[in-house]
Amino acid sequence: MARLVDKSTPIPEGFERVHISSQLGALLEKFPEDIVEKILYSIAENVEVYERNVKHFGKKYNLKAIYEQTDEVLKKFNNANPVKASCKKGCAFCCKMEVMCSRIEAEYALKASEKLDGIMMEDEMEILRKQVELSKVGTLEYALSPDAVCVFLTDDNECSIYEQRPMACRNYQVTGDPARCDVIAYPKENVAVIAYLDTEAMRSVLINADSYKLLSEHILDIYKEREQH
Ligand code: SF4
Repeated sequence: MARLVDKSTPIPEGFERVHISSQLGALLEKFPEDIVEKILYSIAENVEVYERNVKHFGKKYNLKAIYEQTDEVLKKFNNANPVKASCKKGCAFCCKMEVMCSRIEAEYALKASEKLDGIMMEDEMEILRKQVELSKVGTLEYALSPDAVCVFLTDDNECSIYEQRPMACRNYQVTGDPARCDVIAYPKENVAVIAYLDTEAMRSVLINADSYKLLSEHILDIYKEREQH
């Protein structure tokens, strides 16, 4: 079986509808192949269930419902396990990394942001353009760049669209000292991340449903389309 796994690459040989985040990909590298196959199988089963729900309930099973379900799963996991996510409000190192999402997620996030403070300013658009360029260079270069900061992050290091933030932001949680997420202060360290099979399945559903790329790129696309109409 083909082993891993890019954050947006479907896994071949029977698991085409499963997409694995980089954090789960890194964990799976440590497991033997038969265990990896069982894990993928379990995610694939959940993807099937969620996709059936999307078909059956239509609009009632929308993005908001998927996000709520994701948050519920994460909350239950954190309540039930001794190893808990240590992510804190105001700690925003992960908001200086590439955020990949589906088009509907970008539309949802943008709508929320526009309700708060109107359309994107030209300087924010310029940051988005730089981020798209940066993403072609590499993940570390991206994280180290002063232009990497998400346009939805406030000066207080809080997400201005927290309730509507994309799945990639919801599903990324670390354990231990969150300061270790700072790749400038701790360039050689890997922070411990948590991967949840259930939320990986919901993430896969969103990737399968729509075009999946950089949040910045989606927003630029949306603005370009608006200009054309
Ligand atoms: S959308 Fe919010 S949580 Fe996600 S990277 Fe941007 S500021 Fe951070």
